[in-house]
Amino acid sequence: MDKPLTDPKMDPTLDHPQAPHQSLDPEDWTVFRAQSHQMLDDMLNFIEHLRERPVWQPIPQTSRAKFQVSLPHQPQSLASAHQTFMEDILPYGPGNSHPGFMGWVQGGGSPVGMLAEMLAAGLNANTGGRDQMPVEVERQIVRWMRELFSFPDSASGVFVTGTSMANLMAVLVARTVALGKNVRQDGVKAAEKQLTAYTSIEAHGCVAQAMDLAGFGTTALRRIPSNDAFQMDTAALRAAIEADRAAGLQPFFIVGTAGSVDVGAVDPLNDIADIAAQEKCWFHIDGAFGALGMMSPQVAPLLHGIERADSIAFDFHKWGQVQYDAGFLLVRDSTLHMDAFAAPVAYLRRETRGLAGGSPWPCDFGPDLSRGFRALKTWFTLQVYGTEKLGKIISQTCDLAHYLTQQIAQHPTLELMAPVALNVVCFRYRGQSTNEAATINLDDLNRDIVADLHESGLAVPSTTTIRGQLAIRVAIVNHRTDQRAIDTMLNGVITLGRERCAAETK
Ligand SMILES: *Cc1c(COP(=O)(O)O)cnc(C)c1O
Repeated sequence: MDKPLTDPKMDPTLDHPQAPHQSLDPEDWTVFRAQSHQMLDDMLNFIEHLRERPVWQPIPQTSRAKFQVSLPHQPQSLASAHQTFMEDILPYGPGNSHPGFMGWVQGGGSPVGMLAEMLAAGLNANTGGRDQMPVEVERQIVRWMRELFSFPDSASGVFVTGTSMANLMAVLVARTVALGKNVRQDGVKAAEKQLTAYTSIEAHGCVAQAMDLAGFGTTALRRIPSNDAFQMDTAALRAAIEADRAAGLQPFFIVGTAGSVDVGAVDPLNDIADIAAQEKCWFHIDGAFGALGMMSPQVAPLLHGIERADSIAFDFHKWGQVQYDAGFLLVRDSTLHMDAFAAPVAYLRRETRGLAGGSPWPCDFGPDLSRGFRALKTWFTLQVYGTEKLGKIISQTCDLAHYLTQQIAQHPTLELMAPVALNVVCFRYRGQSTNEAATINLDDLNRDIVADLHESGLAVPSTTTIRGQLAIRVAIVNHRTDQRAIDTMLNGVITLGRERCAAETK
């Protein structure tokens, strides 16, 4: 137990009457405790019986209406608020915890992560800084990530919302390296030469957005073509850098993708690392879901070269199955990382002892000051499951993608739209005969099939555009997705496609 405060000089008992006091703690902890246990049980039941529910279902107007009321002035019981949650919120979530969810790249979360979230919320730590164990837990994750990616002990890391934020921060670090710390006062307008950045056309949209938000503008980002495997064409990268140098511009930042959002392609990271080194550019990797493939012996070799990056952005909430949100930025050189964000202000003065000790703080590595305890759910997930098990889950999603690819190859009405490198499969329904394919707009047909499937509650794939054609995109990320869920989705596509084609050609 904690040491009681015994020094009477430090805690004199005041014998004058106490002023009335308002607090948000329950008046009756016994009643509150019973309600708490009920809420925990309800959530465990939800997760245990997920498979029996639709993946997604449309929100009834009555439920929406309950969240369009005026500000509550009077209290309502916790039990009744919880009942609203059970009836009007819980059934109408996004479905990403469900095994049938395979649209977009999203993780499934875990029961362990859920409990860790509860503990973190109970502690209510603000992890912006100071000498507290929650910050030490975050440092443990930084140390583990150095180990996973073979980064040096001088590397730093920080939790953020997601990879969109981590990519933006990487641009800011690279900017400060390229232009010097004065850029923080003078802005990019003071640069002698215009800075240019490079990524593949397959890169996630948030890379261009990061260039926009950082003040460079999206036109300063060169979108390098990709090869047949949807990987960055490194000869085109070299040519683009050369052309920009010849035009008097200053190449400063190259983003490689480890697991592209559309098809799961991995850029030739080692070749890009060579080019970045020769060209003295910052080499950043968007490994939003793919980077944690390092935990899978099957995927890790495909990420060769990731250990050479200057920075890696990734999400624990995707392949890592940690509850939302848990993005992360790892930077090889902690000094360069701090140079972009640390700011001396009086109210954040560091001390050598007391709670204001323990510098540097997480707020020195990013724009957030107040921040929650994302490290705890990540620590629990890594600690309780271990990287071997999490790696097996990652391998399993790739195996399922392979299984789906084989099924597609065997079915004459289906067509694979892109090679499958990891866990993302893009395909489409193309009708029973060439005759049908000629008369039916396949983009519309496949868009309709996907929307039908969503509304059926059976499965949730998404769509994307591959080389100008609409494709059904199946991104298998969730640890709960199994062969049965894949079969259900595929049977749904085939049945709905057949029905729609029959109706159209009648
Ligand atoms: C998901 C994803 C992102 C965006 O990450 P968020 O965590 O959603 O901000 C960026 N890049 C790739 C490749 C992604 O898959």
